[in-house]
Amino acid sequence: MKNKIIELAKANGADIVGFAPSSRFKADNPIFKIMPETKTVIGLAFRVLRGIYRGIEEGSTYYQYTTMAVENMEETIMPMAQLRVAMMLEEEGFTALPQRRHQQIMAEENSTNPEVAYDAVYRNKTAETQIDFLDTAIQCGLGEKGLHNALLTDAFGPMVRYCFILTDAEIEESDVVTPHLCDKCGACIKGCPGKAIDENGNVDAWQCAVYYNGANGTKNPFMPPEAFADFDNRLDIIAGEAKVTPQTARKILDKIYFYPPAQHAYQCSICGRACDTACYMHLEEKGVLTKQFKTPFRKREEWKFSLEDFK
Ligand code: SF4
Ligand code: SF4
Repeated sequence: MKNKIIELAKANGADIVGFAPSSRFKADNPIFKIMPETKTVIGLAFRVLRGIYRGIEEGSTYYQYTTMAVENMEETIMPMAQLRVAMMLEEEGFTALPQRRHQQIMAEENSTNPEVAYDAVYRNKTAETQIDFLDTAIQCGLGEKGLHNALLTDAFGPMVRYCFILTDAEIEESDVVTPHLCDKCGACIKGCPGKAIDENGNVDAWQCAVYYNGANGTKNPFMPPEAFADFDNRLDIIAGEAKVTPQTARKILDKIYFYPPAQHAYQCSICGRACDTACYMHLEEKGVLTKQFKTPFRKREEWKFSLEDFK
């Protein structure tokens, strides 16, 4: 059964498949509210194409990352693999319940998801039935937790997305990965164009939302010189130095109309998950990633516009 699941998941695009017995989760874990009979959680991780980050790295095209690395992965590729594996389990007489991130549902009261429009987020109504995705991925043995709360994998570093299937089938467990990739180098923190990650690796979701959407003008080729004209601290915002609150973040996000959004409420990423690419480049330089490329990710010096352009 285990090998059949791995084979089917990989044939449908998954790159890493792991299995956590329900005994790895505390009794109050949402998985037992969602499906009390859960015996195994199956984790599926999918690589995000490294080449998809290149448009943002070069400052040329931006929508490929959001459409192909976020939207199509979350809405098409990953659910298809989940459904195929779940159907196979049900064919064998077991129950299978796919768990994918619903990008517009947040367990927390006053938080947001940078990947979607803040006013499309549904908050705190379903907290008891939202699983902790990162922790569940770790329990399934898909990878380890990086400082900035990204899942780090041996092959692809943080360039992955992941989802799960709950099932009442008992399946041989995978080992939990002993952390060995994150060396607390801080490159993820420095890589963020909006100072959204504190020194302990905590990501401020609203700060992230503002700069994920492109409020840093020195890294946004689409921002006009007069951007944020109504804001007293416009140059701080554009420099990536403004400290936002949930209220001020909403006001700034309302003024970011420089690039079109994708479907399903997905916002176009202008930062291109710079925290993840910084981490990826660090792991690549150290030579610890098992998936090797013929050339390094960064080909030339990082580009940046001058703040003077906005004065
Ligand atoms: S950039 Fe460095 S500190 Fe951040 S997650 Fe990667 S390895 Fe860890
Ligand atoms: S680099 Fe982008 S995704 Fe990462 S924390 Fe900063 S704004 Fe958020």
